[in-house]
Amino acid sequence: MKLGIYGGTFNPVHLGHVHLLREVRRLTDLDKILVMPDRVPPHKAASDLASGEERAEMLKLAVQDIDGAEVSMLELEKEGKSYTYLTLRELKRLYPDDTLHLIMGADMLLTFREWRNWEEILGNARLIAAARDDGEYEKLKKAAAELGNADVLKIEPLPMSSTDVRQAVKAGQPINGMVPAAVARYIAEHGLYRQDRKD
Ligand code: ATP
Repeated sequence: MKLGIYGGTFNPVHLGHVHLLREVRRLTDLDKILVMPDRVPPHKAASDLASGEERAEMLKLAVQDIDGAEVSMLELEKEGKSYTYLTLRELKRLYPDDTLHLIMGADMLLTFREWRNWEEILGNARLIAAARDDGEYEKLKKAAAELGNADVLKIEPLPMSSTDVRQAVKAGQPINGMVPAAVARYIAEHGLYRQDRKD
């Protein structure tokens, strides 16, 4: 089986993430994509960071309609900071017969050699990077060829970030066009990201 891994903090998941997942599903023959919220160590946690369970719950709501995508708790359940090379070691153990594909944005591919144990990562997974436009596509193609075990897809991003969503909630603005409806409801019901939330 061809297994994709898409990691992030997802604080919260937004329509840009959903769009990327749908496009990767459309453009590749991956059988399954594990969407994996990372563990943020307590000393790094900001006051507007939702808990791991909340971030995972929102992700589940966001990916429920994406065929083949499922939320993995692997990194949340581990102690300490999430390191990709350790996560891939674990996935290799869990899925010895599968090939692993690590999905990432353009910037990440271009700085990939700064990742801890990047050579081990490259040995365990094929990288799939998303290029935003033609110019970036050419640049990424070159970087991918140099790394060897990497592919580039052209995916026009939705201009959106989790930071935008959190700021909108804080300012009391609607977030309907930024996150799936079920996620907007979850954020409202749990009072996430509001100015007056104490944590
Ligand atoms: P923040 O604003 O808090 O930094 P973010 O919106 O970048 O968060 P992350 O959880 O850091 O969200 O993103 C997870 C992954 O999704 C990363 O690989 C990131 O590059 C990618 N990503 C983020 N926003 C978009 C988008 N609008 N379109 C496509 N990919 C995105």
